[in-house]
Parts: sequence; C-alpha cells; structure tokens
Amino acid sequence: MKSMNTNQPKVFIKTYGCQMNKLDSELSIGSLAKSGYAFAEEEKDADVILLNTCSVRDKAEHKVYSQLGSLRDQKEKNPELILGVLGCMAQNEGDRIFKRMPHVNLVCGTRMFSKLPELLEEINGTNKRIIAVDEDGEVSFDRLVTQRQNRYNAFVSVMRGCDNYCSYCIVPYVRGREFSRPVTDIIDEVKRLADDGCKEVTLLGQNVNSYGKGLNGEVTLATLLRKLDPIEGIERIRFVTSHPRDMTKEIIEAVGELPGVCEYLHMPAQSGSDKILERMRRQYTSAHYRELIEMAKSLVPDIKIASDFIVGFPGETEGDFEDTVKLLNDVRCQNSFIFKYSPRTGTAAAEFPDDVQEETKKGRNHILLDLHKKISTEENRKIVGKSVEVLVEGTSKSDAGRLSGRTRQNQIVAFDLPEGSNQAGISSLMSGKLVNIDIVDSTDLTLFGDLSEIAFDKMTH
Ligand code: SF4
Repeated sequence: MKSMNTNQPKVFIKTYGCQMNKLDSELSIGSLAKSGYAFAEEEKDADVILLNTCSVRDKAEHKVYSQLGSLRDQKEKNPELILGVLGCMAQNEGDRIFKRMPHVNLVCGTRMFSKLPELLEEINGTNKRIIAVDEDGEVSFDRLVTQRQNRYNAFVSVMRGCDNYCSYCIVPYVRGREFSRPVTDIIDEVKRLADDGCKEVTLLGQNVNSYGKGLNGEVTLATLLRKLDPIEGIERIRFVTSHPRDMTKEIIEAVGELPGVCEYLHMPAQSGSDKILERMRRQYTSAHYRELIEMAKSLVPDIKIASDFIVGFPGETEGDFEDTVKLLNDVRCQNSFIFKYSPRTGTAAAEFPDDVQEETKKGRNHILLDLHKKISTEENRKIVGKSVEVLVEGTSKSDAGRLSGRTRQNQIVAFDLPEGSNQAGISSLMSGKLVNIDIVDSTDLTLFGDLSEIAFDKMTH
C-alpha cells in the first residue's frame, strides 16, 4: 500500500445487506476520509478492499466467501493489497474466515468500525493479519455528514443491537445488546445534515421503537421525534424498524401530531398465528398486532403500514398459514416483505425440525405475494385523481424521460414534466424539492402523475 504521507491510499468498500450496513459503510468512509484515505470506484484500483457483510442468512455468508475466493488472484498479483471483512459476518465467523481465506488481512466486527484507520495502519506494509471482534467494543455513531450517497435523504443511527432474541434471528448474536445513542448527539447530527441540504432523515435501529432503554431520564422514541421535528430544513422524519411489542400509543400520537413525521409505519407481523408467534419468540399475539394497527389507523388516518412475513416456519400448518393470510387481508399493508423460512445456523429455531416441505413454502410464498399485489394495486388505485406531496429524488430508474420521488407514505411516484419543457438539467434542479403531483394512473408498485405547468414554473424559476 502507498505511504499515507506521499500518495493517498485508495479504499474500495462493498456493502452487503441492510440499511444498517449501508450506514456503517458511510461511517467507515467518514472515518477513513478523515485519516487521509481516498476512495476507488472499482476493486481493481484499490489498495484496500473491505467487504461489509451480512449474516442474516447462511446464503449471504456463502456469497461473501465466494467473493473473497475470487479476490485471491488480485492479492497474489499485489501482495501489498489489504483485504478486510467487516460487520456481521466478521463478528459471527471470526477466525473461521482466516482459516478458510489465508489471503484476508483483517476481520473487523460490528463494534470495531471506529478503529478501522488504526487497524489498517497497523497492517500497512507488514501484511499482518488482525482480528478485531470485541463484543464490548465501543460503538461509534460519528460520521462526516458530507460523506453520504444521497444529498436529500440520510439514515441516522439512533440505537444499535437487539435484546429480543427472536428464535430465527442472528442479529442479537452479531450486533450485541441494545444501546441507545444520546439525544443530544442525534439532534446535533440531524442539524448538521439539515445544514448540508438534507430534507429527509430516517432514524435507524434494529428495534427502533425501544429507543431510550438504558439512557438516563424519560427518553423514548416519541420524545426524540418531538425534539427532532422542529429542526429547520428537515421536512420529513421516518423511523425503522418497529417491533410490535415495544410500540406505544405515545409513539403513534407523535406520528399523528408532528408535521414532519411521515405517516408510515414499518412494523413486522411475521405471522398471524399465535402458536407460530410463540415459537418465533415474538412476545405478542396476533390480536395485539391488530389492536396496534387499529390504533394507528384511528389516530393517523392517512397512515400506511409495511410488514414482514415469514412463511413455512417450523410447525406452520395450513391453519397457521391461513391465519397469516387473514391478517394481511385485514391489515392491508402497503408494503409486505415476504420471506420463505430457511434455518439460520446459530439460532434457536435452527434446532427445530425444518418440517414444512420446500414446495409448500413456495406455494405459501406465492399466495401471500399475490395477495399483497392485489391489496397494493387496490390501495394505489384509490389515490388516482388525488394530488400527493412528493420529495423528488431524480430521474426515474425505469424511464429516463420521467422524474421520480416518494410520498410521505413511502410510495414511489414517477411523473412527467409539462410538455415541451427542457429535460436537460431538470433532474438536478428539481431533486430534493417537494412538489405536489396529480396522480393519473397506478400499478401495485408505482403511482404515475403529472407536474402542473404552474408548479413546474414555480420550481424552476
Ligand atoms: S427484533 Fe427479532 S427479528 Fe428484529 S433484530 Fe431483534 S431478534 Fe432479530
């Protein structure tokens, strides 16, 4: 690797998995930039390659091992190259990575990100192998707000870890115990983001609605939302992911009352069967979940719900699955993330017999996906003819002739500009702006609309 003092060494970070991992990569980029590193666009140009990994499924780890295998040639050609594995898989696999992949230099767990510059410095020029997976390591939330992928929206980590130990989930083992970030730090970061042009923040936590546990005083997610809402420049606040057991009326009231907090709740149900919920160790019943949704819909009339469902969990009978179908039908989620169960090594559920046949899992998956598609098609159709507020994100991914953005309820909106308007430069001019779009058509995934000529003139002049 090049000397830090002469030529900036280049780092390439590849991120796998969830939003928390993407944010961890941003945090790492921030601390490495502060220490004098530059960033490579491609692996082949890098002096340091870091894979920030996911452990949620066995398959995710296999993917990383195969990627590490394919980097062996590059390391052989350039022995000075530093190769590191970060995050959940580093925490979970530890020195097994070193045993299987002798060309890897660094294994850095979920609580050691803040030490990255020092660890790389120690390896630099020595080809040492370091493993840093301390479970009690200090969690760093510090980042350079300017080092982020999207200027107008940002994720803000408010808590880490999880104390729930759902029987199918590896997260508590790789992310550790729950740890909430002090309110003042969060407020400072959101203010700095607002100063840097950010309009929308999403508060992130594995169990975000238990925010405040372990902090002195009466801090909850609801009080945090009330403190963030008045920050000038922040137009929208979201939070993910909520656990039904920790949802409170106080939080739902904050969603309903605060103008900046979006009417959107991602609260995974996982199953509609109480027997399965108990085996999953979810600590609530299907009736309790329904009560929460009813409360949310009555206190926040425009709210949209997103949920996760697992089908084919060990012991799931046809009757249990019917309960899940009924729950989705009744709740009418706008977004449903549906997964076929597969055992995760190291979790309690991996000890249960995986007794639902693959064909049955596939069939149940299809039934739930079809139902979800039907519900979201119907719900989106109800919006046709209405005007919705959209935060413009840029050119539509599926149609370069359109712009796209999201509603407060997280629906994707693709829209046309007034006829004859000049497309060139419009995307960057309008990105980050809030506009009202008249919805003229819809599918299950997207709302389509027009920006009126008057609104367009107002935005661009
Ligand atoms: S609440 Fe359950 S599913 Fe969510 S991260 Fe914690 S253990 Fe995993």
